[in-house]
Amino acid sequence: MTKDAMDEAAKVLAEASEVALVCHVNPDADAIGSMLGLAGFLAERGVQVAATWPNDHREAPRWIEALPGREHVVVPGKMPKRPEVVVTLDAADPKRLGGMIHLLESAGTSICIDHHRTNPGFAAIDLIDPEASSTGEVVYRLIERMGGAPSDDVAACLYAAMVTDTGRFMYEAAKPETLRVAAELRERDFDHAALAQALYEDESFGFLKLLGLALARAELDEELGFVWTHLSRKDLEEAGVEIQETEGMIDVIRSAREADIAAVLKEQREGGYKVSLRSRGGTDVSAIAERFEGGGHRLAAGYSSGVDLEESIAALRKALRDVDPSDAGA
Ligand code: 5GP
Ligand code: MN
Repeated sequence: MTKDAMDEAAKVLAEASEVALVCHVNPDADAIGSMLGLAGFLAERGVQVAATWPNDHREAPRWIEALPGREHVVVPGKMPKRPEVVVTLDAADPKRLGGMIHLLESAGTSICIDHHRTNPGFAAIDLIDPEASSTGEVVYRLIERMGGAPSDDVAACLYAAMVTDTGRFMYEAAKPETLRVAAELRERDFDHAALAQALYEDESFGFLKLLGLALARAELDEELGFVWTHLSRKDLEEAGVEIQETEGMIDVIRSAREADIAAVLKEQREGGYKVSLRSRGGTDVSAIAERFEGGGHRLAAGYSSGVDLEESIAALRKALRDVDPSDAGA
């Protein structure tokens, strides 16, 4: 990320009177937190804001209720058609904006704020910092550059973004600087314990049963150092669990010490599978995801697979063998 991009973005946003904000499809707390944090900051400065993500909002994750700034959220159909400025948040490529992609063309100008290594840059101003722990951290720096400071509400949103994308400050992306920013945010008045509980300890009993099922059927390929499991639509329906409630499942699967690489394959309503990939440190899973037209970070990435479960797993295994020649033919 160049200093110029940060200055340019700060200038455009300081002069804007109307800003549309869009984060990626199936948003996580970094996507929503960074978006609502920036929306809140701009709104406090008198900017007209509208924020959305390209999913049916009736299926929004429950933890959104714990974040301030929901009054800035509108359903995709209610977004301004030709906003003065559009800002995309945490979206590693334009496809992740789903039905909102047209805003990149129709808006007066566009700013992409992100931290994914695989992001090629797709806006007029690309504020992409692969060194940042989270998109929330990039937003914090942008607010600083604009000469502002996060209010209590904005701080809660950015804190949610940072705490989740660092795995509660556990991953390698949690640098001393990350913790300093988090400490600055914690200076503000918000209930961080309630926020963390909403993000991490708020599962339905049905989810626990579904987790049990997924763990019972998990498979380990010791030779490849690969552990994986899957969820079908039927599993979700029987457990009465929505797919967006299953985000935390990969974090349990990835804890197997026998495997460097973990995957959870989830059957999509529209067919095919959403594949979540994680590495404990030895493999760049973003490179694997890119082979399947996905992307992400070195140790956390994902993609969509259009084929059935068996073929999806076979293709993934083949890709894993390709990245480690010592396993060829295994
Ligand atoms: P998750 O497995 O939690 O859905 O995603 C892990 C990481 O990979 C996230 O940073 C997410 O943004 C990225 N990611 C997941 N799916 C895709 C995808 O289909 N395309 C791209 N470009 N990135 C993805
Ligand atoms: Mn992120």
